[in-house]
Amino acid sequence: MFLQRSAVAVARRVAVTSSPMLRRSIATTAVRRDAVPDQPKIKTLKEIKTDEDLIGPGAAPGTVPTDIEQATGLERLEILGKMEGVDVFDMRPLDASRRGTLEDPIMVRSAGEEQYAGCTGFPADSHNVLWLTMTRERPVTRCTECGNVYKMEYVGPEHVDHHSHNPHNLEAPKTISDYVKPEYR
Ligand SMILES: [Zn+2]
Repeated sequence: MFLQRSAVAVARRVAVTSSPMLRRSIATTAVRRDAVPDQPKIKTLKEIKTDEDLIGPGAAPGTVPTDIEQATGLERLEILGKMEGVDVFDMRPLDASRRGTLEDPIMVRSAGEEQYAGCTGFPADSHNVLWLTMTRERPVTRCTECGNVYKMEYVGPEHVDHHSHNPHNLEAPKTISDYVKPEYR
């Protein structure tokens, strides 16, 4: 009993004396929380018009910033969306209720020039994940494991400067499908 009590006392003393940093930060946090100085207004999703609107106010000096205080850019957009229940990047899983066919493919929305989709077969999880690539030029792809067909639906901005990301205007690498006779497509 004596041993136990003294061990606790030593542990307490060590915790208090050997970590002045810890003590200070706890005290500081408590004070700040009480004071809550005039907090800068956080723009809501509707108020975001330009890139500059996606820069957070930052944390008050001496405090640890929260995500909403320090996040910028797309991360900030995503957080603002979540706060209002808007799924900015459409993170829902793909339609797994049926097998995609060439006539009726599984649609994959994309805001960029290319999109990856992970196929696990039909029914879902019947094979290991196989990553398939779709591009705006070649939107349809077919899983080599199960034959599921996916098609990319471009939902990004209408006018994109294609050359800005492709300075040498490189062509997409050829695949076996480039050599399939048109009548077999
Ligand atoms: Zn598959």
